[in-house]
Amino acid sequence: MLFRSHVVVGLSGTALIARFQPAWLTPRWPVETGWAELRPWVESATPWALGFVDGVVGLWAASGLAPLLETPIAYLALIAVVVFASLLPDIDHQSSRINRLFGTSRGLFGWLMHRFFKIFVGPHRTVTHYGLTWLALSLIVWIGLPAIWSPGGPYAVAFSSGYGLHILADMLTERGVPVFGPVNKRSYTLVPDLLTFRTGSFWEYLTVGALTLIVIWVWGGGDVLQSLLA
Ligand SMILES: [Zn+2]
Repeated sequence: MLFRSHVVVGLSGTALIARFQPAWLTPRWPVETGWAELRPWVESATPWALGFVDGVVGLWAASGLAPLLETPIAYLALIAVVVFASLLPDIDHQSSRINRLFGTSRGLFGWLMHRFFKIFVGPHRTVTHYGLTWLALSLIVWIGLPAIWSPGGPYAVAFSSGYGLHILADMLTERGVPVFGPVNKRSYTLVPDLLTFRTGSFWEYLTVGALTLIVIWVWGGGDVLQSLLA
């Protein structure tokens, strides 16, 4: 799946997961405080987007994923974690966006990375796309992050959600993912073969677009739409 699809699926999927508001994610202070600080800046930079961003912040605030978002920078940090984790599994693909973003595909370092993955990790869509890898990384951040940094909880959830959604999103493509590896190396898809699509195809855009609209709708996006049209 394309990097932009992964970003969109990661962000909207995380908002959907948070819809269920587990008790331990319940906000402990008014999350809109941070947005109130950031709002004038958005208003002067992109006034046309203000209504939309208001709606998005409303969704995040209500999502339960926002309990620690007392400062504006925390909003951006949480979104950055979701985006980073949504792209991370494709670090096993030399020309992926995450490798280009971090310069891990160029020069000596890029060559070393490439060798490392060839020897220890294997080809694209293997180890980094195993469910077991997701579970192991999630446990590490769930336990490790709050231990070294007390407000880390939601960021750990955001990481886990972004990474997991990447794997699920790839399972919508016709190539599938060996999600039960290394025990079972067979590639699986989430839906019947007929409904899968090729990476970068029109059907990928259509599917990701439709999923995003559903998430926005679930989150009361009708109100956001109305404020945009008003
Ligand atoms: Zn992938």
